[in-house]
Amino acid sequence: MDRKMIVAGNWKLNGDRFLVQDFLTGFADTSFTKVSPILCLPSVYLATVQDANFALGAQNVSEHTSGAFTGESSVAMLKDVNAEYVIIGHSERRELYKESNQVIAKKLSAAIDAGLTPIFCVGESLETRESGAMFDFLTDQLLSAITEIGIAGIDKCIIAYEPIWAIGTGLTATPAQAQEVHSFIREFLAEYDTDIATNTTILYGGSVNAASAPELFAQQDIDGGLVGGASLKLKEFLEICQAAE
Ligand code: PEP
Repeated sequence: MDRKMIVAGNWKLNGDRFLVQDFLTGFADTSFTKVSPILCLPSVYLATVQDANFALGAQNVSEHTSGAFTGESSVAMLKDVNAEYVIIGHSERRELYKESNQVIAKKLSAAIDAGLTPIFCVGESLETRESGAMFDFLTDQLLSAITEIGIAGIDKCIIAYEPIWAIGTGLTATPAQAQEVHSFIREFLAEYDTDIATNTTILYGGSVNAASAPELFAQQDIDGGLVGGASLKLKEFLEICQAAE
């Protein structure tokens, strides 16, 4: 098994150029061997980063290549400012900006075609979980992506399982709850291709912090985390990266 361990920070609409500088300095002397740290910054700061000891990611991308789409950034633009990763399908984009499974699938396709690695987010609401429809819901999210990009496209993605009820709420899924879903996702992928199922990096996201990370990352099918709030605190984010080493 040669899955990569990854810890990706998602700054959302937070931070400024001074915080970016703090992270550049704070990471300068780090030498992680197993874990690859990624920071998904607000897109205006991507171009300010040089010689970082972490990889760069964006938080969103347009499914279009160019044209009259005010406020959007294309895959080519993100690549131009050295982003290697892009979060696609985050629940905040799904909920607040009404991004459908179909739009998300188009974004995945555009990113993969351009050589960006999508961090493809899936996850259920508490209502869906409690209604017993969680696995069907996750299946729909995964299936609509596979229909567009094929299982070969999934091979080029990182998947992030982010239960909506755990994002920004301080409620972390228990390691057992998270492992159950990660294992379900891997079994789902195995129906298409067992090698891809084994090798796909699947991150957990939802109020991960320095205290919860070690046990979460020790689960068999959890390959690191997608971290929101705690990724804004340099010391804690470094501790979370360390927990994935
Ligand atoms: C996220 O934004 O993807 C996230 C998981 O946020 P938080 O860690 O703050 O819950």
